[in-house]
Amino acid sequence: MNQFTTILWDVDGTLLDFLYSQKYAITKCFRSIGREITEEQIQRYSKINDGYWKRLELGEVTKEQLFTGRFVELFHEYRIENIDVEAFAQEYQEALGSVFSYLDDSLEVCRTLQGRVRQYVVTNGATATQRGRLELSGLAAVMDDLFISEEVGVPKPYRAFFDYVMAHIEEKDKSRILIVGDSISSDIKGGIQAGIATCWYRPEGTAKDSVYRPDYEISDLHALFDILGVL
Ligand SMILES: [Mg+2]
Repeated sequence: MNQFTTILWDVDGTLLDFLYSQKYAITKCFRSIGREITEEQIQRYSKINDGYWKRLELGEVTKEQLFTGRFVELFHEYRIENIDVEAFAQEYQEALGSVFSYLDDSLEVCRTLQGRVRQYVVTNGATATQRGRLELSGLAAVMDDLFISEEVGVPKPYRAFFDYVMAHIEEKDKSRILIVGDSISSDIKGGIQAGIATCWYRPEGTAKDSVYRPDYEISDLHALFDILGVL
């Protein structure tokens, strides 16, 4: 018997392979400034970017500071000068929204769940970028609605983000809502604080000790079928 009627899906690192899109976008933007980015620089960018998103979740930087600050920091480290960072950041966002790669046949998983549960996207990111990838991938079409932090005005894990989602979805009984995501600091922490059930997706299988304990842990999205009682 399935207790859940509603799934809130994280996108990056859960339904879509963010690192794939990121690598494509940063490589493309470096070429347009006449440079070839190295694998090491991509790794470094990824770290800097993760740091900025964590600081955004903590309210230490604004979204605007994140969009350009990560590149300012990268360029500074590698002594890359005379770049129009605003234009670079803009091109990066567009490139990021133009390619996608699924994790675990995620589209098929969501299609299988269609009609059995209501599904919504809850994602931190820029509206144009996230909508672009969700439309292209076909995921937008299987979702009942999309909640993107730029539109909501605050990111996960903030209570205000989840209050906004709760006000706009059909299910009002919190015990029937499950959030599925790969991030302890935004998805699991946010879900717990909002009083809904949480499912931590960790494909690498690496358990981390945290004060925020998810109700479920899965390493493959298909494992959700068991949790939801879908055969
Ligand atoms: Mg994620």
